[in-house]
Amino acid sequence: ERMVSAEQQQDEMSVEQSIRPLSLLDYIGQEDVKKNLEVFIEAAKMREESLDHVLLYGPPGLGKTTLSAIIANEMNVQMRTTSGPAIERPGDLAAILTALEPGDVLFIDEIHRLNRMVEEVLYPAMEDFCLDIVIGKGPTARSVRLDLPPFTLVGATTRAGMLSAPLRDRFGVMARLEYYNIDELALIVKRTAQVFQIELEHEAALEIASRSRGTPRIANRLLRRVRDFAQVKGDGSVTYDMAVHALEKLQVDQLGLDHIDHKLLFGMIEKFKGGPVGLETIASTIGEEAETIEDVYEPYLLQIGFIQRTPRGRVVTPMCYQHFQLEGPKK
Ligand code: ADP
Repeated sequence: ERMVSAEQQQDEMSVEQSIRPLSLLDYIGQEDVKKNLEVFIEAAKMREESLDHVLLYGPPGLGKTTLSAIIANEMNVQMRTTSGPAIERPGDLAAILTALEPGDVLFIDEIHRLNRMVEEVLYPAMEDFCLDIVIGKGPTARSVRLDLPPFTLVGATTRAGMLSAPLRDRFGVMARLEYYNIDELALIVKRTAQVFQIELEHEAALEIASRSRGTPRIANRLLRRVRDFAQVKGDGSVTYDMAVHALEKLQVDQLGLDHIDHKLLFGMIEKFKGGPVGLETIASTIGEEAETIEDVYEPYLLQIGFIQRTPRGRVVTPMCYQHFQLEGPKK
């Protein structure tokens, strides 16, 4: 289900737009991050300044884009959205920056994928709200300084460690988003159900929540798929039994692990006796990108203690063997 066509992705994106909370009050969980942001936003507003630059990091689907939009909302400014790979040349970034209104939020997703040349333009822009541009060529070339409106850069990345140190240092606020607990996810699913006018039993919300790998995007997606079952196989309301039935049909297990997680874990168990095995080797065995495994699949498996990272590679833990009722390797 994670490999979807461009069209499906468009669809998903517009659905996600419609269910995004718009204020900090409606943003569920991430209490520490929220409390701090509330203070910074309040203070910036009192001083009538733009908010300091914010770096949000954590696995996909935990609410970085949503939080950025909320920051813009709370600051009463517009958010412009772009991404690291989309800004190819310094000129692309200059065009975006010069089009900003005072105070605007510029959201750069996957900011760790900005190239060096673009990054260098970003430093003075972040620090002094100005652009250094070179006019002309050869001996007559000269550098001109251009003032920019004050703005807030909100950068999002799956891994803060991938950012260059000079870029990281220019963020005044760094916030790490954590996986959500089941109660928080149940609240998120209930909120989404209200938006879509889906009848949803409390126990069904908990069941969906517990199989969502701590991730709101997955929780909302499972809710929509379960609703499909409820409409076709039932009277449209999502009862506990319906939720369990649908989730089984969707092959999402009790921990929310899907076929790719299974492929990864069983690959490690069957081909490498549970490891230690290097990331690249795992990647080529199951035909996924090493980066995708590291950013998307592995963090949750680490979090629930199914794999561990060791200096010699990844290992499958006894807890994982137990979950699948398998015998561990004989050491
Ligand atoms: P990211 O940018 O980290 O990949 P998004 O901001 O796109 O994640 O969030 C994915 C989906 O999950 C969105 O549709 C959003 O509505 C929902 N979501 C994320 N975090 C929350 C939250 N704290 N409360 C309610 N819904 C959330």
